[in-house]
Amino acid sequence: MLILKTIEEFTKARSNLLKGDSLGFVPTMGYLHDGHIELIKRARQENKYVVTSIFVNPTQFGQDEDLDKYPRDFEKDRNILEKYDCDLLFFPSTKEMYPSSKPGETFVVPGRTAEGLEGALRPGHFRGVATVVTKLLNIVNPTTTYLGQKDGQQVAVIKKLVEDLNFTTNITVVPTVREEDGLAFSSRNSYLSKGNRKKAPVLYSSLLIASSEYKNGDHSAQHLKEMIREQLKMDSEITIDYISIAESNSLQEVEKASPGCMISAAIWLGNTRLIDNIVLE
Ligand code: AMP
Repeated sequence: MLILKTIEEFTKARSNLLKGDSLGFVPTMGYLHDGHIELIKRARQENKYVVTSIFVNPTQFGQDEDLDKYPRDFEKDRNILEKYDCDLLFFPSTKEMYPSSKPGETFVVPGRTAEGLEGALRPGHFRGVATVVTKLLNIVNPTTTYLGQKDGQQVAVIKKLVEDLNFTTNITVVPTVREEDGLAFSSRNSYLSKGNRKKAPVLYSSLLIASSEYKNGDHSAQHLKEMIREQLKMDSEITIDYISIAESNSLQEVEKASPGCMISAAIWLGNTRLIDNIVLE
């Protein structure tokens, strides 16, 4: 695997590689786990070449968020990427991506899909995501970009960005990969204390209870959300950020759940924030 740290080196390596062949791209913030690996495997199966990026993007973190303590382990990531046969790793510094002293004077501002849920609680987050994804798509120019359903709103925002700004990449969404007890893999799970790690699967199990109630014929969004809230409130250490049932592409909240709706929730467990979702069939 070639590791490229500057945009110039990367674009040279990319054009040496490609002669009309397909290129699958997996953008990440590193500290790779089984969720990322699933994206890489899928890209490997479907493309001649695979590019992964590792960049902890400062513009998508709020001032009081965990940018400084975000977990990093480059050697481990590199071994994983070698093992799963990634061809190019784009691993730029912050200065490479944002050369001026203040990051980026130009931002990409997403529209309505970015307003609710994560966007409402993390002001500026999706502006940072949309900006860095735009930059990465311009640099990598992939045939297909692989995203995880784990970050359901991010999927909606990036799909709209690609459509509205005429990027040519296809988007493939990969289902959420979970630990045996149901907890979705996340780099941030490493923040959980032992005790809270044991409690964390309640987030997914509460979503599952609502989705099986839906399958049993109860389509009232208010009722389904109440069921989730009841489950989560059983643990007094959990703080709920939001519980939502929304149409998965527009992210507009619905009164009646239907196929294609995303049930999602965000909670705090101690000082760890967890998000998860299920898309109704
Ligand atoms: P991150 O490094 O957290 O920015 O994630 C990089 C990509 O991996 C994003 O498209 C995420 O949605 C995806 N991802 C993260 N966790 C999972 C998971 N548990 N299952 C599937 N995809 C995931």
